Amino acid sequence: MRRGLFKKSWQVVARKNIGKKLRFEVFKRDRFTCQYCGQAAPDVVLHVDHIDPVNNGGSSEVVNLVTSCQACNLGKGKRLLDDRKAVEIQREQLAAIEERREQLKMMLDWRTECAGFEAEQVDAVETIIKMRFSRVLSPQGRLDVAGLIKKFGMSLVLDSAQAACEYYKDADVAINKIGGICVCKKRDEESPGMGKFSYVRAILKNRCNYVNEGGLKDWMETAFSWGLTPDAIVEVAKLAKSWTAFQNGMFKLCCEHSEEYRSRFSTEDQESPNPFESTDY
Ligand SMILES: [Zn+2]
Repeated sequence: MRRGLFKKSWQVVARKNIGKKLRFEVFKRDRFTCQYCGQAAPDVVLHVDHIDPVNNGGSSEVVNLVTSCQACNLGKGKRLLDDRKAVEIQREQLAAIEERREQLKMMLDWRTECAGFEAEQVDAVETIIKMRFSRVLSPQGRLDVAGLIKKFGMSLVLDSAQAACEYYKDADVAINKIGGICVCKKRDEESPGMGKFSYVRAILKNRCNYVNEGGLKDWMETAFSWGLTPDAIVEVAKLAKSWTAFQNGMFKLCCEHSEEYRSRFSTEDQESPNPFESTDY
């Protein structure tokens, strides 16, 4: 029993020796969650556990340390609890409460640190707006920008903010357009040229009673695969008076641009020049 108690207090000493900063790093890495059972602070008291035990020669370097809840860490020592004096148990419980309080503070600091980083990112976007329009974002504007950064990533949002500020003369319009530009840039990244999809669609919707969005996507992808540029498609859209006229225009453009396309898709039957299944009307 004596030996058991000694071992227990030695474990506590070893844990304290790890140092507050290192413990914080381990907890942060493990997101304040016990890596054995998945319970998280502040529901449970967290310990830093040596994967390879110290008395086995395990080091106290961060790679040998893992976040463990008290129950998981001391699981093996549970049978020692039985015949311990009440006062020792109480002392241990007080220490656990103190530990929990300290860990809650650590976790709040961590959250603040994360929030600070997010605020810095929003500040960077705001700087672009400030330089162009000499004004700052509203609280709602800051929330919106933070949401965009989460969704699209920092560099895409910065590029889009820059583009919006260069293109639009009104600050509110520019700020409101950042999200839409992010969507276009993302689309363009995933499928080059498709960044112009919304633009072409908008032109067609202005000019035609009916626009087949799926068909437009197919036409654009086909045209790109035959080496046509987004701007060439924009020109066809600007002349189209109907969806059918747009399709005819696209077919003509592809034929003009590529001999191979013409020989492959051009038929005697000029009634239906569309290589895709006719989906209009
Ligand atoms: Zn656990």
